[in-house]
Amino acid sequence: MSYQVPRGTKDILPVETEKWQSIERLIQETCSLYQYKEIRTPMFEHTELFLRSVGDTTDIVQKEMYTFTDRGDRSLTLRPEGTAAVVRAYVEHKMFGMPDQPVKLYYMGPMFRYERQQAGRYRQFSQFGVEAIGSADPAIDAEVISLAMDICKKAGLTSLKLVINSLGDAESRASHKESLVEHFKPSIGEFCQDCQNRLEKNPLRILDCKVDRNHPLMNTAPALSDYLNEESKQYFDKVKEYLTVMGLKFEVDVNLVRGLDYYTHTAFEIMSTAEGFGAITTLCGGGRYNGLVENIGGPTAPGIGFGMGVDRILLAQEAEGVPLPKLSTLNVYVVALGEEAKKKAVEVVRNFRLNGISADLDYLDRKMKAQMKSADRLSAENVLIIGEEELNEGCAVLKNMTDGTQQKVLFDEILSFLKRN
Ligand code: ATP
Ligand code: MG
Repeated sequence: MSYQVPRGTKDILPVETEKWQSIERLIQETCSLYQYKEIRTPMFEHTELFLRSVGDTTDIVQKEMYTFTDRGDRSLTLRPEGTAAVVRAYVEHKMFGMPDQPVKLYYMGPMFRYERQQAGRYRQFSQFGVEAIGSADPAIDAEVISLAMDICKKAGLTSLKLVINSLGDAESRASHKESLVEHFKPSIGEFCQDCQNRLEKNPLRILDCKVDRNHPLMNTAPALSDYLNEESKQYFDKVKEYLTVMGLKFEVDVNLVRGLDYYTHTAFEIMSTAEGFGAITTLCGGGRYNGLVENIGGPTAPGIGFGMGVDRILLAQEAEGVPLPKLSTLNVYVVALGEEAKKKAVEVVRNFRLNGISADLDYLDRKMKAQMKSADRLSAENVLIIGEEELNEGCAVLKNMTDGTQQKVLFDEILSFLKRN
């Protein structure tokens, strides 16, 4: 029997992890500039949380969750998205009572969805997301969107499209819902089973259906934009105004409907328009969720957030040919010849590392030539050669691999020498 990773998952090997670490650093730095603090929630939650918050007419809940019963007979689910858990934590830890509002949080880590595997779509993938809870100011919608755009841009992406829409408040959505049902009901038999189920529960989700996307009734469906009440319109205008003063270009797409049930007002997506990126181009999706906190047992607290697919950011970087981040460097490779020299090498390498100098040495008892080759392969900046003769003089030969120069340096002086050069 030979073992392979489960379908839809992948190993991220060391050459790749450098790219991941560089994106992760970028995310941490940018969030810190925006004053969003990291929150880490468990990989699994009570299934009920997702049913309640993501919504039972969504693809996620209907067919994508990894749900299992534990030995205590509890139904648990590997988290398919981040917002539900963050909002749960917000309520559980009474963050609504904290002195600084809104509460600005971010998370990053693996999410799990049972999906058909294809490029850019995995069963375990990494998502970065932010949530700002406790403010219904349209300026924070703009802040959240600008944070997402900044990350994409700082990741080196230039072929980006920002699309926004307003889903309106509860009142606007209710009157829109009525006319949607009227519109689809007579011909609902021509739609997939999911859409038939959605008709009464959440007809807005029909517009987001991937199976029936080309049905003629899709294009003629009543647009939410025509049903926005005055308040919702004003809110949307403000968001657009703030985005404009930030210098962010956007398109309004009245058909943009986000996949989760809990969105109100602002919805947005960031797409890659890079050639050769393939069919799945959404990098990030998010929006406002004014009813969610209350829905899962908290006080009335408006929120907004997004989820960004980190795997997809890396794919977009590849499609755009973004240069790789600088690989980690090796300051010194220590070549030791003979048992006494080896002992000294072990001591010296330890000392280098304690002093912030990256160092490595041979562990295969190889000849000098092979050790030099290793140093080369590892792109060592310097090689320190410890031979028996030099050892007796209390020194070693330090070779600068960039310009090829070499000189004898006393062991006592190597550290300060390296730090100087
Ligand atoms: P899609 O329409 O592609 O299925 P979605 O609406 O299900 O997306 P969200 O739930 O909004 O996606 O998740 C936010 C982001 O997470 C997506 O824009 C995407 O970048 C990423 N993402 C979602 N599902 C996957 C997956 N299975 N594999 C990799 N990345 C994913
Ligand atoms: Mg999906």
